[in-house]
Formats: sequence, structure tokens, C-alpha cells
Amino acid sequence: MDIRVGHGYDLHRLATKEDGGKSMVLGGIELDCQVGPIAHSDGDAVMHAVTDAILSAIGSSDLGTLFPNNASENKDRDSADFLNEAINRANAGGWAIGNIDITVLCDEPKINQYRAQICDSLQMLTGAPINIKGKSHEGTNRSGAIEVHAVTLVQRGAHG
Ligand SMILES: [Zn+2]
Repeated sequence: MDIRVGHGYDLHRLATKEDGGKSMVLGGIELDCQVGPIAHSDGDAVMHAVTDAILSAIGSSDLGTLFPNNASENKDRDSADFLNEAINRANAGGWAIGNIDITVLCDEPKINQYRAQICDSLQMLTGAPINIKGKSHEGTNRSGAIEVHAVTLVQRGAHG
């Protein structure tokens, strides 16, 4: 059995709609929030971190290389497209996704009440067990940002 781990990280600046923030979407779920990400795509930081974790685990090019944030076809793009591409690449290489563990750092929104929905959404896309947890920035000066870390395990083949 060939087993690998991959880590993904994403960060977006947060702003109100008046200041250019988009709707707050995490893992494909829209959250009720006063602020949202400044982004070229739909700004789904959870989806971006998970996509990079999978791409990293299989030794592929990263999200920013595959889907440049200055390309017009990626403007406002549904980040599920990115995740699906990563899953397709993993499957093409014979990799199955074992599980995905996600940590979201932000002061707003509080993701606790959305945990189950986000897990369901990502499980539908990846077919893998998902865990997600939220942490605040603990009064540091990063309240204007959302950060996401994701770790995934992938595996392929079984030796007799
Ligand atoms: Zn992103």
C-alpha cells in the first residue's frame, strides 16, 4: 500500500460587500456573514485548501498554477470545479482519498453551526470522511482575513 499525506493552505482578505467582499462560501455552503472574501474566483477558502492538499499529496501542480487567478475563465468560478479537477487527477493516478482534516481560522463567521453542512457538502464531492474545526485569531491583528489549513491522506495499491 502506497500512502501519502498532503497539506493545503489558503488565505483571503475579508471585506464587506460595499468594499468588494464576495458572499462567504466555505466548502460549497453559503454562510450568513457581514464580510466575505476578496477573491478572483468565488473565494471558497476551504475548497481551495482542500484542493491544494490533494494536489500536493499526489505530487501535482498546485491550484494557483492549474487555475491562475488572472485568467478570465476563473473569474467568479465555482471552486468545486477546482476540487473536481484535483479528484480527477488523483483518481487518474490510482489514488483514493482516505480522509480530509480541515482547520478554519477566522474571527467571523463562527463555523461551528455550519460544520455538519460543510462536512456533508465536501463528503459528497470527495467521497471521503471529512472533519472541520474552527478557531479564532485570538485577538491578533488578523481579524480581516480567513485562513484555512487542510491535510489529506491518499492511498493506492495493495501489496499481497
Ligand atoms: Zn483561495
